[in-house]
Amino acid sequence: MDFAPSPTLQPILDKVERFIRDEAIPLEHQFHGSFCAMLPALGKLRARVKELGLWGPQLPREHGGMGLSLLEHGQVSERLGRSPLGHYLFNCQAPDAGNMEILISHGSDEQKRKWLGPLARGEIRSCFAMTEPEFAGSNPTRLGTTARREGDEWVIDGHKWFCSSADGAAFAIVMAVTNESGGEYGRASQIIVPTDAPGFTRVRNISVMGEPGDDYASHAELRFHGVRVPHENLLGHEGAGFLIAQERLGPGRIHHCMRWIGICERAFELMCARAAKRELAAGKALGTKQIVQSWIAESRAEIDAARLLVLRAAWTIDKVGLYEAREQVSIIKFFVAGVLDRVLDRAIQVHGALGMTDDTPLAGWYRHERAARIYDGPDEVHKMVVAKRILKQHGVSA
Ligand SMILES: Cc1cc2nc3c(=O)[nH]c(=O)nc-3n(C[C@H](O)[C@H](O)[C@H](O)COP(=O)(O)OP(=O)(O)OC[C@H]3O[C@@H](n4cnc5c(N)ncnc54)[C@H](O)[C@@H]3O)c2cc1C
Repeated sequence: MDFAPSPTLQPILDKVERFIRDEAIPLEHQFHGSFCAMLPALGKLRARVKELGLWGPQLPREHGGMGLSLLEHGQVSERLGRSPLGHYLFNCQAPDAGNMEILISHGSDEQKRKWLGPLARGEIRSCFAMTEPEFAGSNPTRLGTTARREGDEWVIDGHKWFCSSADGAAFAIVMAVTNESGGEYGRASQIIVPTDAPGFTRVRNISVMGEPGDDYASHAELRFHGVRVPHENLLGHEGAGFLIAQERLGPGRIHHCMRWIGICERAFELMCARAAKRELAAGKALGTKQIVQSWIAESRAEIDAARLLVLRAAWTIDKVGLYEAREQVSIIKFFVAGVLDRVLDRAIQVHGALGMTDDTPLAGWYRHERAARIYDGPDEVHKMVVAKRILKQHGVSA
């Protein structure tokens, strides 16, 4: 395995790094969990990204993107992760990136024209509605939302929550049970639901870690009361909902993990700069204390290990396939989320009271990224997946 950027990728990475440093980071002081107020400024920067030929690094060229492999996009994603605005500016933000992927793989020509095209051009946004308040989201085969067939239509009833970016989204991809007797993995389907369909209600944007969230930064509770959509809005075939969700989450976890590594690198730089500059006594910087040195050394080792694990998983998906990379993907999901948690915590500690303010991005990331250990599968589920597969080779079936 060779993770060195190719001669064609390196200049792209340099360009992305410069853009984030010179254009995105200077805007960050305007971002306090709210996107609405920033949309005009962000729109201008998105246009600049297009001019620079950096739009949609993960998207195939025929859909207006850069056509990078997962491994290459992972390396871009790390650079973007250095700013909370990075992925949005390049149109590779969750949940749109995942929705674009599944529309490319499973969408009909008409679905691609109607939904994928505008999404890939950045004209609209979308959300993904799977988790429900009434059922444990850790086991997504259990769902209460149903879609029944009536003539040429699906009629959807149900309740969802934590639908990221639903506020302002043009459509939701909704997981709903379409066949009760389809078995654990074949009961549900994915259906495209325009958010202006009668019966679709955004109940509220849920406040998360003290941030109300709006527009792209929202996590919404949704209700579906007899929502009718044409039968053609079914994504893929009936009963494929669970399979498509799994497909969506594989590359999605690579994107998230590389974004988190970008956050770790920026937090690490801030931690080191503060440790070098902050004097406890004349001529005695915080960085002369062994405990701070220990945090710096541990963070360096953990971030480097995390990056190698994620690049290995991306390489395996590119070269061998998602199925073969399943264990690696579960490993990175819990490992990198843990590294992120610890590096942010240490960086905040080194900053003292300043670390608790929003004068640096650390506190915002600490609030926002605690969820990394929960969404896309909590730590415990991924650890269980890894351990079960290993123990199976030792004759233990749990
Ligand atoms: C910020 C954020 C954004 C999100 N965005 C979306 C989105 O866009 N769309 C969407 O559909 N969902 C989204 N989610 C929901 C997310 O996917 C779920 O929260 C997640 O799947 C866990 O489900 P749950 O919250 O119902 O927890 P539960 O399933 O109730 O689990 C609670 C806890 O139980 C433990 N646990 C679970 N299973 C096991 C096990 N097998 N062994 C041991 N312990 C276990 C874990 O510690 C877990 O945290 C988001 C969540 C957050 C926090």
